[in-house]
Amino acid sequence: MSFILRCIDCGQKAPYFPTATNCPQCNSQWREAEYDLETLSKTLPKLLANRPFDLWRYRELLPVQNPNPSISLGEGGTPLIRATNLGLMLGCPNIFIKDERQGPTASFKDRQAAVSIAALKEAGITEMVVASTGNVAIAYSAYAARAGIKLWAFVTSLVPAVKMREIALYGSQVVKVTGSYDAVKRAASEFAKQRNLYQSMGARSNSAVESMKTIAFEIAEQLTALHGTSDSTTDSETPLWQTPDWYIQAISGGMGPLGVAKGFSELEKMGFINKKPALAGIQSAGCAPIVNSWKKGLEIAEPVEVPRTHIETLATGDPGRTYQLLRKEVDATRGVFESVTDEEAFRAMHVLAKMEGISAEPASAVAFAGLFKLVRSGVIKPEETVVINCTGHTMPPEKFVLGDNWARNVVLPDTNPDEKTPQEGVLAALSHVVPERFPRIIIVDDTTEARLLIRRILQSQGDFNIFEASNGKEALKIIRREKPDLIILDLMMPELDGFGVLDELKASSETENIPVIVSTAKELTAKERERLKGQIQSLLQKGDFMSDEFLDEVHAIIN
Ligand SMILES: *Cc1c(COP(=O)(O)O)cnc(C)c1O
Ligand SMILES: [Zn+2]
Repeated sequence: MSFILRCIDCGQKAPYFPTATNCPQCNSQWREAEYDLETLSKTLPKLLANRPFDLWRYRELLPVQNPNPSISLGEGGTPLIRATNLGLMLGCPNIFIKDERQGPTASFKDRQAAVSIAALKEAGITEMVVASTGNVAIAYSAYAARAGIKLWAFVTSLVPAVKMREIALYGSQVVKVTGSYDAVKRAASEFAKQRNLYQSMGARSNSAVESMKTIAFEIAEQLTALHGTSDSTTDSETPLWQTPDWYIQAISGGMGPLGVAKGFSELEKMGFINKKPALAGIQSAGCAPIVNSWKKGLEIAEPVEVPRTHIETLATGDPGRTYQLLRKEVDATRGVFESVTDEEAFRAMHVLAKMEGISAEPASAVAFAGLFKLVRSGVIKPEETVVINCTGHTMPPEKFVLGDNWARNVVLPDTNPDEKTPQEGVLAALSHVVPERFPRIIIVDDTTEARLLIRRILQSQGDFNIFEASNGKEALKIIRREKPDLIILDLMMPELDGFGVLDELKASSETENIPVIVSTAKELTAKERERLKGQIQSLLQKGDFMSDEFLDEVHAIIN
């Protein structure tokens, strides 16, 4: 990848850094990635020819320096399925379903998570906060687990419990906030600020928007493969790829479809397609600020203060500026916004499952109910080709898998949404989220991989405040300052080795009683064993970390 970020407010161009969210000149959070599409239009076709069909085949158009295969879960490359039976029912033979349920965590948020977590990992993030209506937290949790990033997932208490349990299963901290999604976002930012943690901008981040483009790229490639190339392939005017007449997606915040639209725009600029599809954005009638504002011809969206829908995933009451951007896109492509009731969505869910064998979550069914409405009202013509995004289906873990204490509850006092600074009540509510003090553990090892492995194993087992040192001298400094509850100590290290560290610890009354677990790859001599006797809690051979013994040992020492 090579691109710059251009501020859509002041035009300032700046290099991309995943954690820098604002324009350096005007502080705007609205910046767009710009690539050298001219060059890519020549180089990309050849590169693509030899790559597997997954999200990373478009890596030159994604904001990650070195796609890391060890974080990947096989994201992207979801099938495009012809909806033969729906087609018969509706009298439209060319309806295709982009089946995003088939992503690693069963929703299109996998693309966003895969790219965002990869970018943040490159930027050195190890702990972060995300606010979500469910699916973002699930997807981020899976990828964060692989990347060794600790995640705090703030969700509204209305998110179905099955989804919350899925988040918890991946090892994220679930924080259930009573209040609207907009209130959850405010609580999450306050928490991140207090604890000085990186807070994900979610769908608004450049990595998220860029990831969504891959849906457009894939659809164009897949439609082309399905239809075969036209008769006039020799004609140099024939575009490389084909596009549908319509692209339909359910909308909450609206950043997803905005990213897909950017993908089609880039294909058009590279000359790979000759027309963008009309964009149809569908909302739930009980929370349809975008649809209602568009139908009224408003420049700025009128927020819905109290969403009235059972479909929590789509309950973004205030789309903010996304409305303006999306409206421009819909008008430019002669698309539409439409809303459907919850009942219509649930009915569409049954039709889709019973006629096409596809079990979608209610938020996705909203898009299908929208399709039915647009075909019946004649907006979509019988001969037109339609691609509809089946955005998600979540498989939940059973209740008994997790035990009782898998979430923390935050009850927010009533706040005035206009207020910029949170009231004391919010602060007080948040103060219960994290205990005063987590058990503190220092990992002393000269290899980064070993430290990371131990950190992950510990994090998968509970909440710890973890310190790391790569040699004995550094370790002593941190131990004297932090007074950890446990030291996990390697023996072979530069500067001062593990034996030397032990000698120093035992020489001071301040540190002599701190428990130590020694981890070593070395076969110890009898003399070395003698030296450790009485000085340490236990001795572990490297490679044995996952043994229950190690974890039991840690828990016994800490609790
Ligand atoms: C997030 C989500 C949406 C809405 O996407 P936005 O980009 O926020 O508009 C729709 N369907 C499902 C299943 C989702 O997870
Ligand atoms: Zn700017």
